[in-house]
Amino acid sequence: MESKQKIITALLIIFALFFISMIVSTTINFRNYGLSTAEDKANLTAEIVKIGLTSHMVNGIMDHRDYFLDKIANVEKISELWIARSPTVIKQYGEGHNNETPRDKTDTEVLQSGITKSVTTETPSKSLMRVTIPFTASEFGTPNCMQCHEAKEGEVLGVVSMVMDITEIRTSSIKSVLYNMGLTILAAIFVFIVMNKFIRPYVSIFYSIKEVMQNAYRGDYSSRVKCDNNTDNESVAKLLNTMLEKLQHTFEELDKKVYVFIKNKNYVKELDPLKNINSTIERLSDIYKFKQTIENDKELEDIYARIAYVLKYHFHLDDFTMTEIDNMSKIKKIVHSEKEVHCSILNGECRAERIQSSVDSSIFTKSCALYTLEGSEHICTPYTISNDLTLILTIVTNNEEQTQYVRSIMSDVEDYVTTARPAIVSKKLMQTLNQMARVDQLTGMYNRKFLDEFADVSIPQAIRANTSYGVLMVDIDYFKMINDTYGHDIGDEAIRIISGVIKKQIRKADIAIRYGGEEFLVLLYNCEAENILKIADAIRVEFGKQKIYAHGESFSKTLSVGCSRFPQDSDSIWKCIKFADISLYAAKEGGRNQVVAFNESMIENKELGENY
Ligand code: GH3
Ligand code: MG
Ligand code: MG
Repeated sequence: MESKQKIITALLIIFALFFISMIVSTTINFRNYGLSTAEDKANLTAEIVKIGLTSHMVNGIMDHRDYFLDKIANVEKISELWIARSPTVIKQYGEGHNNETPRDKTDTEVLQSGITKSVTTETPSKSLMRVTIPFTASEFGTPNCMQCHEAKEGEVLGVVSMVMDITEIRTSSIKSVLYNMGLTILAAIFVFIVMNKFIRPYVSIFYSIKEVMQNAYRGDYSSRVKCDNNTDNESVAKLLNTMLEKLQHTFEELDKKVYVFIKNKNYVKELDPLKNINSTIERLSDIYKFKQTIENDKELEDIYARIAYVLKYHFHLDDFTMTEIDNMSKIKKIVHSEKEVHCSILNGECRAERIQSSVDSSIFTKSCALYTLEGSEHICTPYTISNDLTLILTIVTNNEEQTQYVRSIMSDVEDYVTTARPAIVSKKLMQTLNQMARVDQLTGMYNRKFLDEFADVSIPQAIRANTSYGVLMVDIDYFKMINDTYGHDIGDEAIRIISGVIKKQIRKADIAIRYGGEEFLVLLYNCEAENILKIADAIRVEFGKQKIYAHGESFSKTLSVGCSRFPQDSDSIWKCIKFADISLYAAKEGGRNQVVAFNESMIENKELGENY
């Protein structure tokens, strides 16, 4: 029920109650007044009858009392009047000539009790009131009753009963009620008109405010309070409208300003700017915390682990892989795998990377031949981190619901990856610089700095894992002559050629280091003693075949190799390197262009012993 109807209903109920109580009270009062007037009249009549009868008695004309009683009975509105003698009077004077004995039970009752009794009888056409009043004997009155009556003090001598027509009282009551009713209805109509005129503007502004507030609750702050011409309402409406305008303007501005900070704009905006602001600030706050955390991460691996953490715990993904692709070398590296790698990305061309766009197998099945897990879908997204680096995120889903969910969060995921981009780039740069610091620019081989780190970090691990290394020290024979004869550039070319020869003769697990000018250290991983010599000799032979071109002519050079074995010759890699160097020295001494393996006699003879 609407408020206006409620107010009208309440007013109607109040009026109805007021009206009913007024009618009931008027009717009762009017009737009581009428009845008490009739009773007074009956008492007065009874007193007159008593005085009249006493006069008749004193004057000795008691026989003529009928005339008197008839006259009294003809008084207006007394329908019947009779008297009844008590048994004492009957005994003394007889029943009287007009049968003055009790006519009914009421006469008898009042004769016995001495108490006035009145009974009202209502019929649809008439209202009658019967009153019976006792006459009591008293020797103290004037005249003294006991002069004529043989009665005791206070004894009832007789009663006078009369029946009065009080229909007029009832008629008057009804008339009065109708009159009141008419007046009340008129008053009610008047009050309604006045109230309606007075309440209507308040009710209408109330509805307008209600509508505006409901819209604001839904997020629409553009509706305004309407009002009729009413000073009070106008000021309320003005206040509310000004406040709404301020709110609308502030929220819209805030929404716009905060929204700028979100990098990805593809998410669905709500109608309510407050909800948008709240969700944007929440997203910004999460991303800001993430950004601050990764800025303090030390290694690139830590940043990838942090992204994986967000994917797992913030986005609730449980099966995904992150792959780093070097755009120049096309070298791929799986940097994180939650669960398992279901894609042979390392062995083929990544479709997402090639088309630089998401690949969603649920849109087109078997989109990518590299993905192998049956009964599941994958969404692969490429993120360009820098010109040199692309990150591929592969998310695996097992049903339509999961796929829909992943699609819905992809813009948020992109925000996180985009936020991490500068940190990834800088860490990657650091990695490259570190790597460059360990690589010789002329040959692309590792340098002495790398050897220092390798000896500190990897050699203790190699000892624990029972790994062995064949150690080769390779040096070009009479290299100085090249520089002297053809110049430094040709010397450099010879160095590039020998480094190429060495790289070709060794495996991936082996390590080649430019140890000095034209001197190279090679560590052959888990290599048998005879194979060490075979590889060393292969290097020697191969280099001897190489032609070095200088100023229109070509020449060839030889090299010498000294070999030792780690940890067979010493459990110190540095000692083994020294032993290889001693062996190289022996090779040079022995006429160059040869491979010499280390044996302990080499140090005994030279009394090097513990110096190494
Ligand atoms: P040996 O057979 O005894 O080894 O004779 P060698 O002439 O090779 O003697 P040594 O190994 O002592 O000579 C090394 C020379 O290599 C000295 C130096 O001028 C030269 N050299 C060192 N580094 C470089 C480089 O990067 N480029 C060039 N062109 N020459 C270098
Ligand atoms: Mg040399
Ligand atoms: Mg040398």
